[in-house]
Amino acid sequence: MVEECLFCRIASGEIRSDVIYQDDEFFAFRDINPQAPTHVLIIPITHVDSLNEISDQQENLMGRMVIIAKKLAEKEGIAKSGYRLVLNCGSEGGQVVPHLHLHLIGGRKLNGKIG
Ligand code: AMP
Ligand code: ZN
Repeated sequence: MVEECLFCRIASGEIRSDVIYQDDEFFAFRDINPQAPTHVLIIPITHVDSLNEISDQQENLMGRMVIIAKKLAEKEGIAKSGYRLVLNCGSEGGQVVPHLHLHLIGGRKLNGKIG
């Protein structure tokens, strides 16, 4: 846990969030500023700054994170209508919070595709 990290503090329960999923490795909660009816953030509980810090040995972690997103899309009732997974990396990638997270966004027709 990184004391000054917002998402570490959310995963530890120190900062309140609207939790929708939790296991030993991952934590998922609703985005405070939702861009669509469903906007969930999935994070590894162990702190990782960004995708840049993910090693080849952690490919399973990334796979499990995507599978959780898929299951949450089903749970949210947007699997059939469709959804988008977004992983921002670094400042030009639009990453604001430096703790790896995957956005699950859906529940409306999304505009555009990239950027
Ligand atoms: P990114 O721009 O990819 O780093 O996304 C960070 C996301 O975190 C944004 O969509 C914010 O709305 C969201 N966010 C920031 N603070 C909180 C919070 N306290 N609870 C839930 N979501 C948050
Ligand atoms: Zn963190």
